[in-house]
Amino acid sequence: MDGEREDGEGRPAVAAATFSLLANEHRMAIMRALAAPGEDGHDPAGLTDRQVYTADAVGPPTKSYSELKAATDIRDNGQFNYHLNELLGTFVRKADDRYRLTWLGLLADHMASTKLETDGVGRAFDADADCLACGATLRAVYTDEQFFELSCPDCGIGYEQMHVAARGVESHTDAGLLRAVASRAHHERGIFATGVCPRCSGSVERRVVLPPDADRARTVPQPLVYCRCTACHAPDFPTVGSLLLAHPAVVGFYHDHGVDLRRTRPWTLPFAASDAAVTVESSDPTRLSVRARRDGETLVVAVDETGAVRGVERDRQ
Ligand SMILES: [Zn+2]
Ligand SMILES: [Zn+2]
Repeated sequence: MDGEREDGEGRPAVAAATFSLLANEHRMAIMRALAAPGEDGHDPAGLTDRQVYTADAVGPPTKSYSELKAATDIRDNGQFNYHLNELLGTFVRKADDRYRLTWLGLLADHMASTKLETDGVGRAFDADADCLACGATLRAVYTDEQFFELSCPDCGIGYEQMHVAARGVESHTDAGLLRAVASRAHHERGIFATGVCPRCSGSVERRVVLPPDADRARTVPQPLVYCRCTACHAPDFPTVGSLLLAHPAVVGFYHDHGVDLRRTRPWTLPFAASDAAVTVESSDPTRLSVRARRDGETLVVAVDETGAVRGVERDRQ
């Protein structure tokens, strides 16, 4: 299958060799020291107005050799030089006698500073929203695998799921976590809707998939848009309505009725989360319509087999 093929010959060997460069405590300490705000004004909280406009304030912090060595616990010069050298070129770059992380170095440090021991990070709580199908209070669950899920405990409908770093979750109250998830859901679906992968910026293929059987239909009782990045293969399966939330006609309709969609929780909007809003007009070719109603006005968005908008109608009765 296309989605399961290898990324190219030799890639696993290159990846193993690259990761093995990181498998050393001293090297991780050097990377951490380079990622930390430096004495060159790179602390995002500490930039002056002027520095915001200088090109050298953009990009990762830099450190001189002596600053970098002082920021680590490695006393032995030979050992420090050896480990720094191993990182050079791949994770660390040297320019004008200063060291900085490469893009790959920033990614690796981000991964390393993500909470690796996740026992006890999980939590579960009642969300301040009801199931659009049965009215039960939705339940939010955050697992030790750093995965967030929002679903109905009574009828089983799933409303939202995504990975959220434990570091981010710990900075939030329960309500704050729901706000963060809602914000990311809007943002990431909005990027997918323009045909771009939110993870790697690759090109995205999309196709509408109708519920194949009763079992699947029970947890997600409506058509989904299967989005797949052709570069990194990251998938997403938004409802048709949630993929449309960034469309100007939809944003405009809600705005005209006093609703700022960016500040709503997608799981509270029937347009995005209820099967009652979606009508399958035809299955060959797939044609759907998604409907919203506010203050006596109806919005109907016609969608094709890729989830692209084919037409918009507004009707006031
Ligand atoms: Zn329910
Ligand atoms: Zn991608």
